[in-house]
Amino acid sequence: MLKAVGIVGYKSSGKTTLARTLARELAGRSHEVAVIKHSSHPLDLPGKDTAVLGEAAGQVGFISPQETAVFWKKPLSLENILPYLEADFVIVEGLKQGKTFPKIVCLREGPDDAGRDPPEDLFDGLAICAVGPADQIGGLDVPFFERDEVGPIADLVEEKGFKLPNLDCGGCGHETCYGLAREIVAGSGSLEDCVSLQPATEVKVDGQPLPLNPFISGIVRSTILGMLSPLKGFKRGKIEIRI
Ligand code: SF4
Repeated sequence: MLKAVGIVGYKSSGKTTLARTLARELAGRSHEVAVIKHSSHPLDLPGKDTAVLGEAAGQVGFISPQETAVFWKKPLSLENILPYLEADFVIVEGLKQGKTFPKIVCLREGPDDAGRDPPEDLFDGLAICAVGPADQIGGLDVPFFERDEVGPIADLVEEKGFKLPNLDCGGCGHETCYGLAREIVAGSGSLEDCVSLQPATEVKVDGQPLPLNPFISGIVRSTILGMLSPLKGFKRGKIEIRI
């Protein structure tokens, strides 16, 4: 299953450097790694081929013997892009508003842009660790690493990385994926709670499978799990009910 981790922080906090060293470390551990960088600025440079061709067409592809690139002249969501990647690990740099994956917070010297010390708005309940100058960690309740401790950071990311679908279907009992993401990071939730990530629920009548669309499948699954999970002896796994 695809794993993801975000790297967030203010300008000049070392996000790109950490994304690069972490990508190298994970690739060295035999992961297929992709990095997605979020930018608030336009991607192409005036006068370059991407801009010239992009004025005429909304999608521009580049193919060379060494590389391939596609530019869409519109914003796409992270979930739109992921299917194009051949990766089992995705590092998302700079998407502070992302709420469906855990994050590493990069701290920098001095107070944040709003003068707060440490920067509270970067800690939205999804931080699995902070990286940066030790004097910035203050009273924050997350593991802390120096910038060059990429090995232990990669260990943590391998253990805690995940990506929820961002469907906000409510099947896990939370109104949005953010609720479950926070629980997973806090250790009180699990990816198994996300009905959209689980194999389809199968219902048979007289031995014949009943067609269930993904929405109904999710409702059947979460209803039955909700009824059974408080019972003594319950554990997750294949469940059989015969009526
Ligand atoms: S069940 Fe999965 S997709 Fe639906 S809201 Fe919960 S985490 Fe999101």
